[in-house]
Amino acid sequence: MLMIPDPQDTIVALSSAPGPGARAIIRISGPAALRSVEPLFTSAETLARTQRGCYTGQVRLQGVHSLLPADLYVWPAPRSYTGQELVELHTFSAPPLVDLLIAQLLNVGARAAQPGEFTLRAFLAGKLDLTRAEAVLGIIEAGSRPELLRALAQLAGGVERPLQVLRDDLLNLLADIEAGLDFADEDIHFLEPTEWLHRLTKGLAQLELLRKQLAERALSERPFRAVLVGRPNAGKSSLFNALAGAPAALVSAEPGTTRDYLLRRLEHNGVRLELLDTAGWQSGAGTIEEQAQALSHEQTEHADLLLLCIEAGTPDGEDETRLQLRGDVPPVVTVATKCDLAAPPSGRLATSAVTGAGIDALRTLLAKSAQARARPALAPSLSRCRHHVEACLDHLRQAHEAVLFEEPGEVLALHLRASLDELGEMVGAIYTDDLLDRIFSRFCIGK
Ligand code: GDP
Repeated sequence: MLMIPDPQDTIVALSSAPGPGARAIIRISGPAALRSVEPLFTSAETLARTQRGCYTGQVRLQGVHSLLPADLYVWPAPRSYTGQELVELHTFSAPPLVDLLIAQLLNVGARAAQPGEFTLRAFLAGKLDLTRAEAVLGIIEAGSRPELLRALAQLAGGVERPLQVLRDDLLNLLADIEAGLDFADEDIHFLEPTEWLHRLTKGLAQLELLRKQLAERALSERPFRAVLVGRPNAGKSSLFNALAGAPAALVSAEPGTTRDYLLRRLEHNGVRLELLDTAGWQSGAGTIEEQAQALSHEQTEHADLLLLCIEAGTPDGEDETRLQLRGDVPPVVTVATKCDLAAPPSGRLATSAVTGAGIDALRTLLAKSAQARARPALAPSLSRCRHHVEACLDHLRQAHEAVLFEEPGEVLALHLRASLDELGEMVGAIYTDDLLDRIFSRFCIGK
């Protein structure tokens, strides 16, 4: 059973990427945030505790002679991300210095933050609801641009706002119905059943829409997709067939046989993959650069990896350069094909569709890449949301039936309350420690 860490502790963590770099951000949140920084930060300006501000100064580290240039950002409570006093020290990202700095902050009473603890505090302070907290996580974990956009939309209230509207509507309806129940003996009708039906139908429609939106998002949980690209006759279709383990693509000695594209799903080492064989870069229509540029959006938009097929024995490097010219391409792995005919350039994955050499190694490489990508940004959040939406729909349908079949008002109120509980859990108005643990433990430290 999780214990929610004490929100009154002052916590510290590196919240920028670890490792050498231009800037390290050390974030401190809690009642003693500023107090813990003051002993080591000096600035020509006087710190105003009650105002937001940015101060340029230096940090004095124990055992280090020279002062370290640093900026201090101050957000007084409650107008900060966590709702608490929050400060950030921005300095050079030199790992030993950063470690020393954090150690010094820990020495003066701050505690090392747990993963997601800053966002947990934001949630506990009512700054974010759960769907938004998960969106923060989605942004951190987004593995592709569409995933990032979806997470950003969720953060901006994509799911949260319609949910709030729906909850408010249902709460009002419940209040009206319960008021009616209290005065049932006196035969006063606050609302007519047709009005109930109207409002329930509206709620059902909103929820159906939400379910549809969630289903659309879930599309991002598609399998990893590798797309074969390269010049005509480079051996893409043959490699595609060899990888897929069955002849599916049309193989021909005529350049440019694969006019459209073919998709094949396969599973390797328990990992699901999609392979897409594209039309070659046609030499008849424009330069190869133009061809590469024009590589249909449809084909590469959802590619997680491009397998650039180059015939063994052809000069090195040109095709990679052409592909990079397109900009905004997914990661590229170059594969030498037809290695039974010529020696492959060293350092390149050598394959032959004829002898089967390198095919299994390539499958393994694809499976590994797929596993590395398997960071479904919103998947856990989505399945949680979907579960609540389904349960809520179920209760609302029963409430609807209760009105249609003229069941007692108590039955209607019961189903309405149950559907509101589901929505409440989804936005985190009702939450359990266990749920919070599941969500926030997936954050990284410093977020
Ligand atoms: P694509 O246009 O890139 O799809 O190329 P294809 O897969 O259609 O292959 C073009 C030609 O090269 C065909 O005649 C294939 O039989 C031949 N080919 C493809 N892969 C190999 C290979 O690994 N070894 C040999 N010897 N020939 C190959």
